[in-house]
Amino acid sequence: MKLTSESKSKFLKIKNCNMKKFKIKDLEVEYEVIHRKVKYPRLEVKTGYLYLILPKSYNNHQELLKKHENWIYKKVSLIKNSQKEALNKSLNTERTDEKFKSLISLYVDRISQELNVTVNQIHFRRMKSRWGSCSCQGNINFNLYLKYLPSNLIEYVVFHELAHLVEMGHNKKFWNIISNRFNDYKEKENELLIYYMVLAKEHQFF
Ligand SMILES: [Zn+2]
Repeated sequence: MKLTSESKSKFLKIKNCNMKKFKIKDLEVEYEVIHRKVKYPRLEVKTGYLYLILPKSYNNHQELLKKHENWIYKKVSLIKNSQKEALNKSLNTERTDEKFKSLISLYVDRISQELNVTVNQIHFRRMKSRWGSCSCQGNINFNLYLKYLPSNLIEYVVFHELAHLVEMGHNKKFWNIISNRFNDYKEKENELLIYYMVLAKEHQFF
C-alpha cells in the first residue's frame, strides 16, 4: 500500500531554486523543469510541487502543462488541502513499539480469520513511501511509522494488506473487498494522506 499515489516515485533530491509558477483556476502551482536522460516526459507531484521530468531535447513544457491541466489541478489541490488539514492533526507519541506490534498482531489475527487467509511472516520497517506491502507468500511488511496513527487507521492498513492475500492487484475486485468492510474507505485514504503529510513534516521525509 503506497503512502500516496503522488509519492510513488523515489524521492528526488532537488533544490527548489528553479521554481516557476503558473495558475490553474484559483490554484497557483509551483513547478520545476528538470532535464534528464529519459525517453518520455513525466509529471510528478510531490509535497504540493510539480516536477516536469523531461528528455534533454524537450523544450515545449508549456504545452505539456496545458495538456495535463486537469490532472495537475486535481493532484496539487488534493495535496495542498491535505497539508492544510495536517496542521490540525497530531501524532500519537504515546504508543511504544511494543504496543504497536501487539496491536498489529491483534488486527492480523482478527482480519485473517475474517478474510480466511493465512499470514506467514510479519516484518516492521521504517519506510518513507508505503504504509505496508504484501507478498503472495503471505509475508507482510508494515511501516513502523504507523505507530503514530490512530488505531482505526492502523486497522484499515492491516485490512488493506491482508485483502491482498485474496486479491493481489488494486483492481475492482480488490476495492470491493475493501468497501464491503469500510464503506468510508475514501475518507480513510484521505486521512492517511493527511497523516502522511504530518509525518513527512515532523520526520523530514524530504
Ligand atoms: Zn495495496
